[in-house]
Amino acid sequence: LKENYDLIVIGSGAAGMTAAIQAQELGLKVAIFEKLATLGGNSNRASTGMNATETMTQLSHQVIDNQASFYEDIWQGGGKTNNKELLKYFVTHSESAINWLEKHNILLTDLTSTGGMSQKRAHRPNNKSAVGSYMVKELQKQLLDKHIPLFSETKAMQIVKKDGIVTGLKIYNNKIGEKTIKTKTILIASGGFSQNKSMLKNYAPELLPLKTTNHQGATGDGLNLAVAAGGGLVDMDKIQVHPTTQQDTDHVYLIGEGVRGEGAILVNQAGQRFVNEMTTRDKVTMAIDNLHENGATLILDQGVRQAFPAIDFYQSIGLVMAANSLSELAKKAHLDSENLTATVVKWNANQISGKDSEFGRKTGMDRGMNLSPYYAIHIKPAIHYTMGGIKINNLTEVLSDTGEKISGLYAAGEVTGGLHGDNRMGGNSIAETIIFGRQAGVQAAKYIFNY
Ligand code: ADP
Repeated sequence: LKENYDLIVIGSGAAGMTAAIQAQELGLKVAIFEKLATLGGNSNRASTGMNATETMTQLSHQVIDNQASFYEDIWQGGGKTNNKELLKYFVTHSESAINWLEKHNILLTDLTSTGGMSQKRAHRPNNKSAVGSYMVKELQKQLLDKHIPLFSETKAMQIVKKDGIVTGLKIYNNKIGEKTIKTKTILIASGGFSQNKSMLKNYAPELLPLKTTNHQGATGDGLNLAVAAGGGLVDMDKIQVHPTTQQDTDHVYLIGEGVRGEGAILVNQAGQRFVNEMTTRDKVTMAIDNLHENGATLILDQGVRQAFPAIDFYQSIGLVMAANSLSELAKKAHLDSENLTATVVKWNANQISGKDSEFGRKTGMDRGMNLSPYYAIHIKPAIHYTMGGIKINNLTEVLSDTGEKISGLYAAGEVTGGLHGDNRMGGNSIAETIIFGRQAGVQAAKYIFNY
């Protein structure tokens, strides 16, 4: 641990690691502080992919996309409440973020869909594995290669300023106690607050009874650090509930949207579909809540499973029911057997015609379900992502409530607010960490060289 740095990054998720790599490549002396013993935060749990538009990967899959359509899908999905400046920057820098990753040996060459998306934009590893753990592992390799120091079990406590300008960060570590490290810039990349009950009580008390998919470090520390340093907060009451999580053990497992993107359907206890499974997360959640049936059931066949191999893991820990026929599966999952079989027959016809006359689903229809075994997973909604957070501009500069900059202070990733409006599209969180993480690294370097 040195006495001073050019940039200190708070948090070892994808946003923090990306920023650190970018800043170091531009010549800054960087350190990352992570409060937990494990690295990668919620980024580690990202499941389906990283959204981007106009990429080579899309073209190689015959997906002809454009920025305007990507913007429009996010804008509609976010209830037209997204911060337009952040959204525009996000959409116009998604392709360069994919290229930047490729330059760093992080290859996302397969594609899938998430809810609310009119084109396949969720880029994922070509073995179709979960994007987050892959990304965190590969970013970590880059940190090691570049000798970027990462101090775990070291918590950011306070941003120190002099004459309105960032001058240091007070940290706490069990071995060294409290210490202030000098730095010219700080990036807050400490993630969201889904694990902070008192913040949830304050901003969205109706969600308190729900469980969360988040890792234990998502306690909103960065929001308090920013506010104490003069930063503003936006959209704090906008909290995303993920429709499909498995909660029948003592842990909440996210059943990634990609399984629906590859063809799975959702049914009620009567064995019938009840929603366009590929609409936005808020709408799918609402439809499940309106059933009043303690969740719903995801149905898939062996073909879908092969296209979404994370199911192997869920099955290995006992979350998946399997059977050789749909009627047998219905019995195991306590669903109406005749209806379930009829539902799948109808779904297969929809898939072939490309028209879902009942619910208007348009994506995740590449394959029907004809291949046994068949699988069922009982799902329920859970708190997943906090869309509100620190107020920033598209340079990732932290702003006060009245819009003034705090010199030397930056924020990126889930800790920030505004980009997603009132509903985040699946696949946009990992994209946000890379796009704005890079931007933070660049802006810190610019600030230092003009210092
Ligand atoms: P993002 O997706 O925005 O990169 P993540 O949730 O993946 O965010 O990562 C944020 C990381 O920041 C987590 O590993 C979390 O433990 C860490 N963190 C949270 N608060 C602090 C803090 N006060 N000091 C250091 N690290 C923190």
